[in-house]
Amino acid sequence: MKFIASIHRLTTPFMFSIPHLDLPSIQSLDGVVQLPGSKSISNRVLLLCALSPGLSVVHDLLDSDDTQVMLDALRALGCDINEVNNHLEITGLDLDRLKSTSRTEPLPLFLGNAGTAMRPLTAALAALGVHCTLSGVARMHERPIEDLVDALRQLGAQIEYSQNEGFPPLQILPSRMSVKSAVRVRGDVSSQFLTALLLALPLVSQDHDIVIEVVGELISKPYVLITLKLLDQFGVHISRTDWQCFTIPKGSQYRSPGEVYIEADASSASYFIAAGALSQGHLPLKIEGLGRDSIQGDIEFVKAARAMGADIQEGANSLLITPSQQQLTGIDLDCNHIPDAAMTLVIMALFASSPTTLRNIGSWRVKETDRIKAMAQECAKLGAQVTEGDDWIEVHPIPLGHWRRASIHTYDDHRIAMCFALASLNPQHCPVRILDPRCVGKTFPDFFETFFALAKTPSERIPVICIDGPTASGKGTLASLVAQQLGYGYLDSGALYRITAWHASNLGIALTLEHQTQIAQLVSELSLQFEGERIVVNGQEVSEVIRSEAVGMAASQVSALPLVRQALFDLQRNTRRLPGLVADGRDMGSVIFPDAELKIYLTADASTRAKRRHKQLISKGFSAKLEDLLADLEARDLRDTQRTVAPLKPAVGAMLLDNAHLSIEETVEMVLTQWQSKQPF
Ligand code: C5P
Repeated sequence: MKFIASIHRLTTPFMFSIPHLDLPSIQSLDGVVQLPGSKSISNRVLLLCALSPGLSVVHDLLDSDDTQVMLDALRALGCDINEVNNHLEITGLDLDRLKSTSRTEPLPLFLGNAGTAMRPLTAALAALGVHCTLSGVARMHERPIEDLVDALRQLGAQIEYSQNEGFPPLQILPSRMSVKSAVRVRGDVSSQFLTALLLALPLVSQDHDIVIEVVGELISKPYVLITLKLLDQFGVHISRTDWQCFTIPKGSQYRSPGEVYIEADASSASYFIAAGALSQGHLPLKIEGLGRDSIQGDIEFVKAARAMGADIQEGANSLLITPSQQQLTGIDLDCNHIPDAAMTLVIMALFASSPTTLRNIGSWRVKETDRIKAMAQECAKLGAQVTEGDDWIEVHPIPLGHWRRASIHTYDDHRIAMCFALASLNPQHCPVRILDPRCVGKTFPDFFETFFALAKTPSERIPVICIDGPTASGKGTLASLVAQQLGYGYLDSGALYRITAWHASNLGIALTLEHQTQIAQLVSELSLQFEGERIVVNGQEVSEVIRSEAVGMAASQVSALPLVRQALFDLQRNTRRLPGLVADGRDMGSVIFPDAELKIYLTADASTRAKRRHKQLISKGFSAKLEDLLADLEARDLRDTQRTVAPLKPAVGAMLLDNAHLSIEETVEMVLTQWQSKQPF
């Protein structure tokens, strides 16, 4: 049997609503990965396209919370943005119209927690004099913006704080900027203030050169370099003297390069570089879409990781990481140039042979959360000794035997969630729980799917919950909901027997013992595609047809054929994949996954089950008689319990759960509670 897509489901929508995700102990990550586009480049490019006349086509844009708020804001301003064949077509804003539109009420723009949207949009909209408000989530309202506002006010912009002085939300009032002399901006809190001015002020440079002077030592210089390189690409050529003075030449005008390709995110790559280095094994991990030619500052993470002992080969547009054959060593590093990726070094430091000190990282304190404090607290939960200072952190490795299973608080900070996923590679095989895993959506919505797709671990470390019970006990619904809640895959083994029976019957093969070799052979030739609830067999959608009572009966017949069971054995076993599996069906807990940590035998009396089935069929528009259903159900119970092959009975150690008087929500809750009681967190 061939699978085009996996029966195992771990889809983003449900991952996004789950309270926590448990990562089993992982041995290695290997294979090839194409990472999503850079957040920093994506949001800058979106704004530049909106400010450049004409059409721009953007390829490989990051699809995440932060880019979504930027897209929403640009659309609200009137920008025409369309998705066409996997790329975006953006028509530049009519800036004259935008400047001259008078509004009675300010245009409300919500920017979530995206600093890369808040800062540049504040500057650009102030330069254009657009009457609007800029707000975000609570944390955004704690992230400073005063230095930028002060700089813009020097040029005549009218900006008011709606709540607290120095912080969003802001209101921009219509006004014209008058640019005569140099504008000064602080560079030591966030480099995004300078970036914002660099992106916005070409809009008002018609008559004068504009000189931006940086006050204080500029931090995160590589991010400013990204800005300068992109400005160049969009026709604005800025000259600079050291990192102190930037000149936007008089008459600068944005010009779209037409096509823009966004490179993979170097900060996101840091998790996979670290994972490759920390892997126990020999196979390499290859990252595509990013390499030596990257314009992102976080590519310098490669050097820092190498300094710890990581084996990384750089291609022009790819990175190859081979597992380190020796334990990593601690480093003492000024990380001002790689503020985001440096968080990953903290986790690598836990695996090293000596302590690591990361310095000059004061900006961590004003990011999505106070990252110095958060990293220190969560590392301590894993068993590490960590000391923090105003702008530094010292991390001691966790000696073997001292790793602890921890439930990691993520502070609505995507990078904390992604960093701590790496702790699942610990040598002591402790699992790790990540709370609120959805926060990765800020920059990498599919992070965990990507991580698990590369991750390898012995199958016995992958948790399995088996759910069985007689027909119409609700085991399928229960299993699928439990899987959703845990972010696990779901194996509906009954569907495999139903498909087999349906297919054999269609070919006119009798479902008897004499034909079992032929039916088993059919199994190996089937091509199956599972996409969420959709099941496609040999190109034909069968999701509904295999659910009929007749096919259920036929499934019960083929499932009594030993060779058919044998043919489906490996297929079912192979669905045990990270991060875990909920398997529903007859012999899940006895034959397929006898070592499952939790086995549930769900039951209810026959008449309750017949009533449920009746209700279900009627609601789907099928006609059905309750008496007939009850008779069928009893006949099936009898055949399933009495057959010699995989009879219907609770697996050894199974928990009996009579749900005759329980709602499905209550049943799910009971199973989850039982599961939690077995978890070490
Ligand atoms: O669970 P469902 O009703 O879809 O299963 C259809 C039939 O397939 C059941 O009546 C059962 O006899 C058989 N089956 C089985 N072993 C499994 C799953 C289903 O024998 N693992």
